[in-house]
Amino acid sequence: MSEHFLDRIDHWGSVCPGRIAVQSGSNTLTWSSLIQKSNALAAWLHHELASTPGPIAVHGHKEPEMLVAFLASVKCGRAYVPMDTSIPEHRIAKIVAGSGAALVLTPERVSEILMHSADALPAPPSRVQMDDPFYMLFTSGSTGEPKGVVITLRNLTAFTDWLLAEHKFEPQVEVFLNQAPFSFDLSVMDLYGSLLTGGTLACVTKEELANLKLLYQRLTQFGLTTWVSTPSFAQMCLIEKSFRQEMLPTMRRFLFCGETLAPETASQLLERFPSAEVWNTYGPTEATVATTSVRVDVALLERFSPLPVGYQMPGTRVLAVDDAGVPVADSERGELLIAGPNVSPGYLNRPDLTAKAFTQFEGQPAYRTGDWGRCRDGLVFFEGRMDGQIKLHGYRIELGDMEANLRELSEVADAVVLPVEKGGKVDSLAAFVVLSAPMDGSDFEKSARLKARLGERIPTYMVPRKFLFLGAFPMTPNGKADRRALAAMLS
Ligand code: AMP
Repeated sequence: MSEHFLDRIDHWGSVCPGRIAVQSGSNTLTWSSLIQKSNALAAWLHHELASTPGPIAVHGHKEPEMLVAFLASVKCGRAYVPMDTSIPEHRIAKIVAGSGAALVLTPERVSEILMHSADALPAPPSRVQMDDPFYMLFTSGSTGEPKGVVITLRNLTAFTDWLLAEHKFEPQVEVFLNQAPFSFDLSVMDLYGSLLTGGTLACVTKEELANLKLLYQRLTQFGLTTWVSTPSFAQMCLIEKSFRQEMLPTMRRFLFCGETLAPETASQLLERFPSAEVWNTYGPTEATVATTSVRVDVALLERFSPLPVGYQMPGTRVLAVDDAGVPVADSERGELLIAGPNVSPGYLNRPDLTAKAFTQFEGQPAYRTGDWGRCRDGLVFFEGRMDGQIKLHGYRIELGDMEANLRELSEVADAVVLPVEKGGKVDSLAAFVVLSAPMDGSDFEKSARLKARLGERIPTYMVPRKFLFLGAFPMTPNGKADRRALAAMLS
């Protein structure tokens, strides 16, 4: 029998006990502390929760205790549900209720428990097994309700086995950049890349993100070897002229996922970081982080613009299919379908949504991505969305999510949200609003009021930048709000 996933992580606690496992702001945790604390917390959780069912919701930002809580949950046989502090209370409440969480842990609560609980509690009898949920991530849902993607240990193992085989990370050497909050599946790439190789997870916090001088200072101090971020984040860093190999001399590779990697971004990175590789990877949360990857070198840049998203991971299939789910010919456009051991069993407690998107393909679990794409010579190309899902600065957002939340406000009779594009990319969002009753104040004041109200329900990154107030929406012949006519008002 192969070694349990968690033993592969715990192993580093004895091999490199003093090495930093995670650093975030001024806080660090060594490998021995991480393992010891997660064992102690797992024992406490088991003792405390006994047979109460449900996962453990973990609410915080980038604190080292987040990792303690994640590992402790799976060590006592329960999945964890990461929830970043950028998510407003109203939505946190929905996630906690929707996940059926047995308990909500915060970093402060973790420290408190560890301070007061004796180490002597017995270890939990069972850990998460291959087909048990390992984590659940809540993503934007088109009806305004966040939907929980269940990822099993089998899914995660399929992804991490491939990640480790492809990148040949050097044990006890790598320092991984953690840019994405833990509630986004991109973070799984750096988190488990690091935990499985005795690495160091170097987290950038929201305070550092909001202060560029501080951010570059931190990036310089980390000693990064492996960069994991959205292309948007790297693009932002490239604005700084000194963002180059001299600033980050140990940088070996840039791993991107989550949105289109522009050829210009890749070529600038190759030029500024001659010792580093650049990789484009693609995949949705529902298929565990990424399912295709390709190294972007000068030869690839000369051959393709836009860039391909990569070759399928061994043991999986990525195909373009037609409406009936039948594969189309090579080079033809279709909906990208992913089949393989990394495909989630579905959305938590939502058989309706699961039945719509999840299927089987040649005996393997499969997911219809809703992405347009095509496959040519073994390479997969992404060609946009088929629906109202967008990526804004790397964040996955359903336009319907914001519309539903806007309509829930008493001030709003109807709402349509549209992406505003710049240079072929979504740059911001615009909300068209029909008010339910006249509202005092200028349009600026009205926008500010609605933004504040909406910000109580959805994360700040989802709140539209621009609000336009209309007496009524232009209609299509079949009586729907005419989105094209509304989009024309933006140009
Ligand atoms: P998420 O679940 O947040 O990872 O978002 C998944 C979606 O992001 C995919 O279905 C695509 O629409 C988009 N996406 C992911 N990776 C890439 C990529 N490398 N290039 C373009 N779009 C991507």
